[in-house]
Amino acid sequence: MQSEARCGKLIVKDGWVICPVCRKGKLLKLRADTTARNLPCKCKRCGQETVVNIDAPEPASVETSA
Ligand SMILES: [Zn+2]
Repeated sequence: MQSEARCGKLIVKDGWVICPVCRKGKLLKLRADTTARNLPCKCKRCGQETVVNIDAPEPASVETSA
């Protein structure tokens, strides 16, 4: 049971890790302080498993400029 873990760029959109395979499915919800290492997430959309590595907290890019 080998699964190729590609270390490509993770697509993060609106606080969600987007599946790099189909680029449509949401893999994982991110918080500002979320960290993950070698966390396998299976896309519900295409069924591909992607290993997620989140070392540094992503800066929240929420547009809340009043
Ligand atoms: Zn997918």
